[in-house]
Amino acid sequence: MRKKIVIGNWKMNKTLSEGLQLVDEIIEELVKQPNNSVLKIVAPPFIHLAAVAEKLKSINGFELAAQNCHHNASGAYTGEISPAMISSTGANYVIIGHSERRLYCGESNNLLAQKVTIALANNLTPVFCIGESLEERNSNQHLEAVTKQLKEGLFNLSPSDFSKLILAYEPVWAIGTGVTATVHQAQGMHNHIRFEVNKKYGKEISSTISILYGGSCNVKNAKELFACIDVDGGLIGGASLIASDFVTIINSAIAE
Ligand code: PEP
Repeated sequence: MRKKIVIGNWKMNKTLSEGLQLVDEIIEELVKQPNNSVLKIVAPPFIHLAAVAEKLKSINGFELAAQNCHHNASGAYTGEISPAMISSTGANYVIIGHSERRLYCGESNNLLAQKVTIALANNLTPVFCIGESLEERNSNQHLEAVTKQLKEGLFNLSPSDFSKLILAYEPVWAIGTGVTATVHQAQGMHNHIRFEVNKKYGKEISSTISILYGGSCNVKNAKELFACIDVDGGLIGGASLIASDFVTIINSAIAE
């Protein structure tokens, strides 16, 4: 069975003290609404990582991710953070290829492929984001757009490296907009992604890799999205900043 995973991407929100308070609130909510079957991950800003890692040490099945990493190991890259630095905080995951970084920081598939390789070399599990723009969806180019991101960003990996990844399908038009993909759209694309992974890496990997949905996922729509056969949980932005909502969304991923 594939792993169910829910990740909270805080983006550029929360000061250090606010972030630590949010983690405490999430832990309190998890005590009220416990579950052991969903892998829970938070992705706060870099400056929170070490302190959040300390808080999560004793909590089973609750992990930590960075929101980005540099594509080089070290050197004169002022303001950047390497995968080894992230690893040293206690984080085991890193989000790579979020559409906001593709858009605002000009990150190309080629650069993202380098990030994935160096993240894996530093024992970080990449959460690799893919998703089409509104234009691509409206012109019926969405399947090709996502296939291109997969091929250029990931299909250089060996099967054993590829099998370590988490994928996140995040249609750009749904991120932070309040417009969510329909169950039909989400399932259709997740099925397509699995089909492409199957073509490249075979059945065992395509049937075991977790593919998360992201894009205006909230307490109201999480359950029906996570019930889709090829949706293995979610990457949650805005709704992950409210502890009770985030934990309700985590619990929406429990199979009934
Ligand atoms: C995201 O940033 O990955 C995301 C899905 O954001 P939101 O849930 O706010 O749409």
